[in-house]
Amino acid sequence: MTNYEPIIGIELHAELMTNSKMFCGCKVVDSVEAEPNTAVCPVCLGMPGMLPVINKQAVAFALRVALALNCTIQPHNIFARKNYFYPDLPKAYQISQYELPIGTDGWVDIQLESGEHKRIGIRRVHMEEDTGKLTHLDGGGSLVDYNRSGVPLLEIVSEPDIHSGEEARAYGLKIRQILRYLGVNSGDMEKGVLRVEPNISLRPVGTTAFGKRTELKNLNSFKALADGAAYEIARQAEILDAGGAVVQETRGWHDTKRITFSQRSKEEAEDYRYFPEPDLPPLHISDEWIVQVQAGLPELPDAKIAHYLADYGLSEYDARVLAEEREVAAWFEEAAAHFPDAKTITNWVLNNLFQLMNEHKQTIGEMQVTPTGLAELLQLVADNTLNNNTAKEVLADMFTTGESAKAIVAAKGLAQISDEDAIAALIATILDQNPNQVTAYLNGKEQLRGWFVGQIMRTSQGKANPALVNTLLTTQLAQRRLSDEA
Ligand code: ADP
Ligand code: MG
Ligand code: ZN
Repeated sequence: MTNYEPIIGIELHAELMTNSKMFCGCKVVDSVEAEPNTAVCPVCLGMPGMLPVINKQAVAFALRVALALNCTIQPHNIFARKNYFYPDLPKAYQISQYELPIGTDGWVDIQLESGEHKRIGIRRVHMEEDTGKLTHLDGGGSLVDYNRSGVPLLEIVSEPDIHSGEEARAYGLKIRQILRYLGVNSGDMEKGVLRVEPNISLRPVGTTAFGKRTELKNLNSFKALADGAAYEIARQAEILDAGGAVVQETRGWHDTKRITFSQRSKEEAEDYRYFPEPDLPPLHISDEWIVQVQAGLPELPDAKIAHYLADYGLSEYDARVLAEEREVAAWFEEAAAHFPDAKTITNWVLNNLFQLMNEHKQTIGEMQVTPTGLAELLQLVADNTLNNNTAKEVLADMFTTGESAKAIVAAKGLAQISDEDAIAALIATILDQNPNQVTAYLNGKEQLRGWFVGQIMRTSQGKANPALVNTLLTTQLAQRRLSDEA
């Protein structure tokens, strides 16, 4: 059996979340919820004689993505006509970019589960328009919805720098994370706003020429991407080992059987008869515009993680979880701006808040706890007004009622008792009420200490300052030992 090196390059399509379509004024609507064919006009229905107009917002979004992926920006953009005939494309051509895409020669860093980092080249980022959506009926016939026809679409094409299903998945997740950070795509693969198509080939280890590739079409999850690529790698290895040749073709992924199957032999670029789109002028992107968009980019995930490690002293794992989504990161940063100990904030967000969000099925944007609200709560703990356990209960109340920590503490009389005399009196009462336990403890049954602490905390309704309870209990037990021995 020969050892093969898998070679994978990924084409990723992302719809852009603009208000209107790429070349007409129709609204971009939710492909699942909107009534079919309600957001259409003569332009996106491909009526003869209709003229497209470029959506500037879509170009701005494309520019954000290209810059975030470290691409060189093409100042002189030409749109191209890509001809093909399929009922989801009413013009019988798609307006795309071919020779002069908006971005070229970029890169993105991915991280594998082992912790290893890899840099993947981005060959090109180009603008195009989405097609309509076909639904094939079981009894024959098909339905077509043109709401999606003409929605701005970005194609991001990687270099063949990916070498396994796991790397493919990590790449897809990273691109999606960046698109979500940039606010240009929701990342909702179930709705089809993001689609991935890996090209896969094998070559014997140690050789340089690429083998024949297959392309997996329309994968709708990153699990399908990882599993489909792994399947294809194994399938091609078996063919090559048997002395056969891989056929260059597009293949589908069967999500329940978890196998790939042949769809059609691959068309070559000449089949599309690309030519410059005669209905659109060249699109010039000025240096000023590039500088302006670059300046408006948010801090991206990798930079954010580095920033959290350096400035907040977080662990790499915690930094990664907090930076996973931009909304969570922004929330955390605001809380950290109002409370000096970022690690404590991190623990409360990752443990307690995330648990509450899960329980109540709320996102960080939906929940009522604010960053300053959490900071106020943690300040009460730092001041010894609340102990940790009571603070957790207060947080749960804040979550459901939206009240502030101070208001809840005042209304429920939850403030921690840190008055030494009061706690000492409480401890004395408990010890007096339980003479048998005291004797047993003094005779060596040390585990009773925890029981005393439990009684004291219960009697104080959880409000006694635990640190004080500990010291004062130690003192009083020692005194009773002395008087016992006397
Ligand atoms: P096409 O539209 O013909 O599929 P593109 O150049 O748009 O061509 O995309 C090709 C994708 O396939 C790129 O991601 C590229 O890195 C990748 N690729 C090219 N050749 C190979 C190969 N032999 N094996 C695996 N991936 C390849
Ligand atoms: Mg392709
Ligand atoms: Zn339209």
